[in-house]
Amino acid sequence: MHPVCVIGGGSAGVMAVLRTVLNNDDCLFFPGTPKDKKKSRALWVRKVENMPAHLEYKRGIEEPNAETLKWIQESAFKEKLHLQKNTGVVALKKLETHFEITDSKGVVHEARYVILCTGVMDVQPVIKGSIETVFDYANAQTIDYCLICDGHHVLGKKTGVIGHTNSAAWVTIILHERYQPPGLTILTNGEKPEFAEDTKKLIELYNIPVKTSPVKEILGEEKGKILKGFLLESGEEILTDITFVSLGMIIYNELALQVGANVDERGFVKTDENGLTSVNGLYVAGDLRANSKKQIYTAWDQAVTSVNSINQKLRSEKRSQS
Ligand SMILES: Cc1cc2nc3c(=O)[nH]c(=O)nc-3n(C[C@H](O)[C@H](O)[C@H](O)COP(=O)(O)OP(=O)(O)OC[C@H]3O[C@@H](n4cnc5c(N)ncnc54)[C@H](O)[C@@H]3O)c2cc1C
Repeated sequence: MHPVCVIGGGSAGVMAVLRTVLNNDDCLFFPGTPKDKKKSRALWVRKVENMPAHLEYKRGIEEPNAETLKWIQESAFKEKLHLQKNTGVVALKKLETHFEITDSKGVVHEARYVILCTGVMDVQPVIKGSIETVFDYANAQTIDYCLICDGHHVLGKKTGVIGHTNSAAWVTIILHERYQPPGLTILTNGEKPEFAEDTKKLIELYNIPVKTSPVKEILGEEKGKILKGFLLESGEEILTDITFVSLGMIIYNELALQVGANVDERGFVKTDENGLTSVNGLYVAGDLRANSKKQIYTAWDQAVTSVNSINQKLRSEKRSQS
């Protein structure tokens, strides 16, 4: 029986592992299968510019995480880490005093407390019948997703926003108000705009064109390093140097749902301020948690708060036993 199990090996997961072992608690850790990793935000993050001391990394989450795990494995705390390499969790069951965790290899493990850090993924636009058409551009960061992380990239650049929801309209409004890019266009890619009245008024006030024709083709060069714009099915060409995608998120909440944790209307898992869900012993940290900023540093802070809350419970049990 492990006292703590961390599921997910992105920003929140690795910070949860680090804090658990530094608290001298035993930690069972599932970073996920290669497939889990491929569909996680962690893998897609490139240069991180909105946090100090990260510029040297080409992959701003994967590389520092690998360094941290290596350090733990060489440290005085190495015995505390039970890393299940390339392994994910496929089933979670809540028993009276603990959790039963079935991994992707079919092995069943047991843990008193579980910290779920499986994250979310941004919905990709379908262009030419596939989401893969944007991958080169996403890799080269000429197509971006996160306003807080990468909004500053639009300074001085012709900018597009792909999206049709009120949130997409707000991303556009904020980009305009912060950076006044020399051209700003909303591309709904064939969807009907779902903007609220107030939002619509701002979009009109700022003279932001809304193009509803489906995107026929992305115009670019050098494996996505240069984005030139978009050819619409209407025949119009929209020139952009950079484009944001704002189509919502896929939320990896399956394991939380399996044990009956409460989620909000979008599917994010509801927790108290320590990350404790409606299921006793189940904590959530990172992007999966409801009402969080969805950033690396918030994932770190949430992970530390959850781990320390668990450590407090473990210490208190030991104290009363002695
Ligand atoms: C393109 C892009 C750029 C970004 N840039 C920045 C930035 O510059 N600065 C910033 O602060 N934030 C940035 N973010 C946001 C940041 O990536 C997230 O806030 C952060 O990764 C959230 O951490 P997390 O641990 O919740 O999820 P993730 O880091 O996505 O980790 C999820 C983990 O869960 C694992 N997993 C999934 N399912 C399972 C399973 N069943 N079993 C086991 N493991 C599983 C995956 O393998 C993965 O390791 C960016 C996001 C994107 C998409």
